[in-house]
This record gives sequence, structure tokens and C-alpha cells, in this order.
Amino acid sequence: MISIKGLTVKYETSGGIVTALSDIDMSIADGDIVAIIGPSGCGKSTLLHVLAGIIGDYEGQVLIKGQPVNPREQRIGLILQDYGLLPWKTVYENAVLGLKIKGEVIDQVYAEYILKRLGLADMASRYPNQLSGGQRQRVAIARSFILKPDLLLMDEPFSALDEITRESMQDLFLDIWRQYKVSTLFVTHSIEEAIYVGHRIVVLTPSPGRIQDRIDNPLFGMDDLRLSDDFYHINMQIRRMLKEDGAHFYEA
Ligand code: ADP
Repeated sequence: MISIKGLTVKYETSGGIVTALSDIDMSIADGDIVAIIGPSGCGKSTLLHVLAGIIGDYEGQVLIKGQPVNPREQRIGLILQDYGLLPWKTVYENAVLGLKIKGEVIDQVYAEYILKRLGLADMASRYPNQLSGGQRQRVAIARSFILKPDLLLMDEPFSALDEITRESMQDLFLDIWRQYKVSTLFVTHSIEEAIYVGHRIVVLTPSPGRIQDRIDNPLFGMDDLRLSDDFYHINMQIRRMLKEDGAHFYEA
């Protein structure tokens, strides 16, 4: 269980203090998948950075299994938009890096299964500069999946991928989630992705980000999502919220 109470994050800048997140209350039950959606600059990445332990200077309380965030003790998988790969390590070495850093035994069969499912098996000995952007993104995804984290954090993990690859990566994520039920919080700007991949959808207001609404999503993982009436209603509900704020918003 992840519990967030009264989380407020401020940045000090030369132009003064910027409040990025304001009074966020949220809990993520074990095995829950929460999609965070909101306009650019509303603090989505800030929230992920707090949960990943990258930002430790905040007001409020953030607990993972009752303990303050500590990436050394908790298994936190983080998939960032800029991939975070080490250029001098091969695809395979990058993919198992999370376990290596923790000094843990690498389950090679599982690592190879994930690389295969991500279409990376044939390029395991390549270096990141020999890969396309989409392939690098998939290595970052592989690294987090191979770690089997207690908490998986994803910042627009599929947005750099073309539509077909994106859909197959979403399905792979759901397959892996069904197997391991990893608690996940992911940021997306795609309403459709939030509806397909999120159990719950949390909509944030424009900066400073507050929680505007929480939607229990009945359409999670549903095939032929777009054919459902509920899809239309939830889509419109979110769209309206984002538009009412005059927020600049776009769909994938
Ligand atoms: P999002 O991910 O939703 O686009 P961010 O979390 O990146 O939003 O940013 C939230 C707000 O905090 C924005 O106004 C942004 O300009 C500001 N911000 C983010 N990082 C920093 C930083 N390191 N220093 C100062 N301001 C920042």
C-alpha cells in the first residue's frame, strides 16, 4: 500500500517559489494501477520523482508499505521519458542493471523472456546508440519489468512509440501485471491509454496540481474499448475537465 497525505511540493527558483503540487491525498492499494492525467506543468513528473525518492524535500507524508520512501530498501522501478540508459552498457546489461545494482541474482530465463516479448532478444549485445528511440524506450521498460518492483512508476512510457508498438507494449504491460500484480502509477497524456491501462484515473488541475477527480474505471484492460458506451462517457468526462480549465491538452 502506498499512502500519500497532504503532499505539497515547492521548487525554489530565481524568480521565486513555484508550487508544483498542492495538498495531494492518494492511496495506491497493492496491485492497483493508477493513471495520472493532467495538463503539462501540473506536477505529474514531480509526483513520480517524490515516489521514486529523487525528491525528498516536500510537505506532507508519503509512505510505501508504512515506511518513508527509500529506493535502497524498496524495489521501485522507474521508467522515465529520457530512458535513463547507460551508453557504455549493452541492451542486456542495461536491462538487468536494476538487479545488478541491488546485488541480486539475475533470473536469466525471465530476463530473456522479457527481452523477447519486447522484441529485443536479437539486439541484446547492441549499445543504446545503435538503437532507435522506440527500442531504447523498450530497454528502459525491460529494465523495470525485470526488477519485479514493489512499485512501478512510469512517466509516459509508451508515448514515444508508434501506435502499433504502443498497443503491443500496453498489452505486454497488462500481461505482466496479471502475472505479478505490481502496484503501478503511470503518467500519460492519452485519455485512451488511461482508460485502457488504469484501474483508476486521477485527473490533476493545472499548476499547481491538485486532485480534480478520481474515476474508478470499469473499462480497464477491455478489448474493443472504443466500442463501449462507457468509453465515450468517461472519455468526454475527462476531456471536459481538462478543457474547462482552459488547459492546453492534446491526445496521443
Ligand atoms: P508535468 O510533469 O505535469 O509537466 P512537472 O512536475 O514537470 O509537471 O512540473 C510542475 C511545475 O514545477 C511546473 O510549473 C514546472 O515548471 C515546475 N518545475 C519542475 N521542475 C522544476 C525545477 N527543478 N525547478 C523549478 N521548477 C520546476
